Amino acid sequence: MTSAADAVGGALREFGEELTAARAAQVGGAFTDDPRADDFLKASPEAFLIGVLFTQGVRAERAWAAPWALRERLGHLDMRRLADEPEAVAAAVASPPALHRFVGTLPRWISSAARRLLDSYGGDATRIWAAGSGVAEVTARLEAFDGIGRKKAAMTVEILRRHFGVDLIDEQCGRVAYDVHVRRVFLRSGLVDSDTPEAVQQAARRASPACPGLLDLPAWLVGRQWCRPQSPECEACRLGEVCARRVDLGVRGVGVRGAGGPQSSGRKSSPEGSLG
Ligand code: SF4
Repeated sequence: MTSAADAVGGALREFGEELTAARAAQVGGAFTDDPRADDFLKASPEAFLIGVLFTQGVRAERAWAAPWALRERLGHLDMRRLADEPEAVAAAVASPPALHRFVGTLPRWISSAARRLLDSYGGDATRIWAAGSGVAEVTARLEAFDGIGRKKAAMTVEILRRHFGVDLIDEQCGRVAYDVHVRRVFLRSGLVDSDTPEAVQQAARRASPACPGLLDLPAWLVGRQWCRPQSPECEACRLGEVCARRVDLGVRGVGVRGAGGPQSSGRKSSPEGSLG
């Protein structure tokens, strides 16, 4: 890693440590700007798990508000009923305004997740991430749910550790999600020269050997707030003083809107410029 990349890694690590100390949710202390939805999400592990399913292809705030909205529409967020009444779930998700862009896929994931939660965890989502479990173990358990791939699992593990203070063990804590914002920031800042999952993970491990996942939220926030696909704001950016500012670069392919179906999207997607 070059000294310039070292500086970027250091700046992201420092930002990550600040966010951890603040027990940041996703955007500041909140997941969503509706306080009732935010409180519900934080109080109910099952709502949080359902929220994870929604974190794809829509703004994070909208995704995290969905479990509350779903409960309001259904009159419950009972796992047994979510599993046994898929038509009701589908209608609740799709009725205007729809809770998500993927009105066909999300309800299937929700009913499937509720079934899996009942069958494998007695309906208690905290058993997925029971204290003392390893990061790899929890990641694998999450990835076994329909609608949770590597990216969402990585994000979820980081939120569990950072915000909820879940005590997971492992030598290397977590990894960064291969998310469009994270990828764009890694590429433009010079942390990576190629936009591949392997390069991104490797760069995160080099920048933060003890805890690669520490870089996940800071990179995502930088990408969302300043390093947007078009018109990045380098002067205002948290990484502005150390970044290589390769603003002609962008990401495309997996996770970028228009590049594929719901399975190919991520924490949320954004249109991108060309890869340069
Ligand atoms: S906005 Fe500019 S300074 Fe910030 S990460 Fe992107 S390219 Fe670097």
